[in-house]
Amino acid sequence: MIPKSHPRHSSLSERHALEAGVRRGITHMQGFIAHGRGEAFDYLIGEKTTAAAKNAIRAAAALLLLAKQPVISVNGNVAALCAKEVAELAAAVNAKVEANLFYRREKRLKAIAAELKKFGVDALIANGKTKLPQLASKRAIVSREGIFSSDVVLVPLEDGDRTEALRRMGKRVIAIDLNPLSRTAQKASITIVDNITRAMPLLVKKAKAMKRMPAADLRKLVASFNNKINLKQSLLIIRRGVR
Ligand code: ATP
Repeated sequence: MIPKSHPRHSSLSERHALEAGVRRGITHMQGFIAHGRGEAFDYLIGEKTTAAAKNAIRAAAALLLLAKQPVISVNGNVAALCAKEVAELAAAVNAKVEANLFYRREKRLKAIAAELKKFGVDALIANGKTKLPQLASKRAIVSREGIFSSDVVLVPLEDGDRTEALRRMGKRVIAIDLNPLSRTAQKASITIVDNITRAMPLLVKKAKAMKRMPAADLRKLVASFNNKINLKQSLLIIRRGVR
């Protein structure tokens, strides 16, 4: 792999978007650290959407279209990087949107909801009464009519413990995570190993294009997707790249 001396243009604009997110009270400082981990993996996969990621995006669009109560979980990084695409996806698959944070703060949740409102989304915010079972701390707090009651949850940039808690409840979890080895990536039902800034627009496009597909065809697409194999393909791309 040829080392690059400068960050690509889009990675600079992602950093600027996150900086603005921090200034506006949307993004936590820890979000920068998480983003830095993502950038490292993005470099290793060649900073492009791979064939494996495209397959995962197609399966994810099918699963979201089949869902009875899909929910998109939005944290501070997601709101700063792709609030517009969250709104477009929610409209395309008829999903609820929930502001949900690892470092839960009322003020930040409200700032995220205000950001989503700019794109026409009325985001749910948990009132603190409903919790995911077997998960300690404030991270367990979810909205009863949102994530708690959902059958399919899209959790871009999620933490592994929460993904596991959602899976234990029998939910199908779609993750977007550049690290194919993270616990989130390993535990999700469908993992899109790609940068969220590239994956979300493609997911919106796919969901719109597949909207009129017969349910039986969507089910076939989901059934033929194997997350373990897909993750191995992403890992292979990384291994080849660093050889
Ligand atoms: P886990 O708990 O799942 O084992 P972790 O402790 O790294 O992983 P977090 O810090 O909560 O979890 O999540 C950050 C994850 O998000 C990292 O795996 C990182 O690679 C990924 N990530 C960060 N920025 C992006 C991005 N822009 N697009 C896709 N993935 C990203």
